[in-house]
Parts: sequence; C-alpha cells; structure tokens
Amino acid sequence: MATAERHAAPAPTAAPEPSKKEKERPPSPPRFIRDREGRAAFERIGFLGEGGFARVYEVVDRDGVRKAVKVVSKSSIRTKKNKTKLWAEIKLHQMLAHPHIVRFEDCFEDADNVYMVLELCENGSLMDLLRRRKRYTEAEARLILVQLIAACQYMHQTNVIHRDLKLGNLFLDAEMNVKVGDFGLAALIEKAGDRKKTICGTPNYIAPEVLFDTANGHSFEVDVWSVGVILYTLLIGKPPFQTKDVKAIYKRIRENRYEFPVDKVISSSAQDLIMSILNTDPEQRPALDTILSHPWFHSGSFPSHIPLTANDHAPEFR
Ligand code: ADP
Repeated sequence: MATAERHAAPAPTAAPEPSKKEKERPPSPPRFIRDREGRAAFERIGFLGEGGFARVYEVVDRDGVRKAVKVVSKSSIRTKKNKTKLWAEIKLHQMLAHPHIVRFEDCFEDADNVYMVLELCENGSLMDLLRRRKRYTEAEARLILVQLIAACQYMHQTNVIHRDLKLGNLFLDAEMNVKVGDFGLAALIEKAGDRKKTICGTPNYIAPEVLFDTANGHSFEVDVWSVGVILYTLLIGKPPFQTKDVKAIYKRIRENRYEFPVDKVISSSAQDLIMSILNTDPEQRPALDTILSHPWFHSGSFPSHIPLTANDHAPEFR
C-alpha cells in the first residue's frame, strides 16, 4: 500500500509519555551480531536509518570491512502477510548482482531478528543530498540517470520490477556511484505478459496505471514512470505532482498536471525528455534504451564521476 506521509510529533510538555511508536519500538540489536554458526560476525558501530519495518546499522566485519546490516525484528513480522513480504524482498534482492544495485551479501537470523548484510553506501541517499543542495545540476543528473537506467535494464531483464524507485531508495557509495536499494515492494514477473495488480508505491512517484487501471494491472513501465519523476525531482528540487495531500497528488497524476516553474530554469531538452517519459499511457512511454538515446544526454557536459564535494555544493564540470 502507498507509504503514508510522516507528520512531525507535537512538541513535548513536561515528562512526556512515550509515544505509541516508542512503546512498540523493538530493542536495539546486540552490539555483536552473531551469524548462523553463532560466531560474532559483526560489531555494530552506528545507525544509518530506518524505514517501514527495518532499521539499518553500520557494522564492521571480522576483517575490519564496513557494511550495512538491515535488521527486521521478528516481533514486527508476526503476521503471515508481513512474513511473506520480507521473504519476497530477500528472495528478489538475493537474485540481483549489478554494479548499480546495492549488493546483497548474506542473510541470517537469531532469536529476535532477521539480518540482511548489505553493501555500505556511505554517502547516504540521493534524497539526503537533495535536502542539503536543493537541486542537482543537469550534468550530475545525466550521470545519475545513466547509472539508474543501467540498473533498471538489468532488473527488467531479470524479470524484476522495483516498484518503489525514488530518491530515498537510490544510494551513493564511497565513490558517489548510484546504487538502487530497498526491494521491499519489488515483484517478479514469473510468466511473460503477467501483470501485477497490487496498489503499491510512494504517492509522489506512483504511475497512473497502478492507481487507475487496477483491472488491467501494471508491469515494467511503472519503473520508467518513476525514472521520469526522479529526473524532474533532481532538476527542480521537488516531485512534479507534489501537493498538500495524497488524494490531490493522485488527482494531479490522473490529469498529468505538473509545471516547470519559471524560477527554476532547466534546458528545453531536459523538459522534452521529462514530458516524453511522463506519458500516462504505459504503452506510449519510451523504453529504457529509447530514453538513453534522447539528445539531452549529449547536450552538455557528461561527467565521468560525481566528486565528493558534491555533498556540499554544486560541482562544476567542463
Ligand atoms: P525500508 O525497507 O524499511 O524502507 P530501507 O531499505 O529504505 O528500509 O532503509 C532505511 C534507511 O536506512 C534508508 O533510508 C537509509 O538511510 C539507510 N540505508 C539503507 N540501506 C543502506 C545501505 N546499504 N547503506 C547505507 N545506508 C542505508
């Protein structure tokens, strides 16, 4: 189901009662996380973030190599539905190995938690960087799109649809390479032509056919739509259909209503590419390799990498 928007908690008064969420919060995993054989395999050294029902920690292994460990408390997967979702995430992520997909290294459990050992993406997500920088340059966006589309082409060839591509699920490794992560909503197309019917995704990035063509279902083209939303968001600084409530976002998606703000100038070539991708009809939406052949990719500098300084300010490329 669509991810709910987060609301800020009211300011606490004297001696606040723990919130419902805090009361339910499972205890932190042990400092030394033991693997299947019961050996201390990882030392927990930091907290990276949390999502729907997982918390992600930075750990170091026996050889001193830093990794990310995604921890799901068994108390949060008591229902059959949640168990099935977690096993699907593990099964699909485990199948994938690509330079632009977060590497899935191992998975094991103890009495309290299920642990997924992942490649560490030490420069955080593209959303973290957007918050600091407000917008990306077109040159950066070209490189990000090429790396993201390479990951999508590989996923689709492997019959996997990600279904939740967004800036918060695109991570940056130590060299600022893009890595697609979080396969919590991914689906496998087991037979050619099969279509998925579950309504899922994140409101701002969700394709129109997921919401409005539930009878016919959806397929790989939903990821292409998200690529268009991602490109707009990188260049403009906020998603195209964003507005105050989820219902209004869905209305805008249905009407394909978005603007290019006059105070945030982007090239006409970038606008043309975004408009071609954000086609309401999934059959008319360009294929991934058609996107890559758009003139925008050749109409300005194309950096070989994004420098670390991009974490703080817009890099200049010649
Ligand atoms: P969920 O599936 O519960 O939404 P995510 O996989 O999105 O969880 O992870 C939650 C947060 O943990 C992310 O927003 C990010 O801040 C952090 N995170 C996840 N994976 C990694 C990783 N491989 N490297 C670094 N940080 C990560």
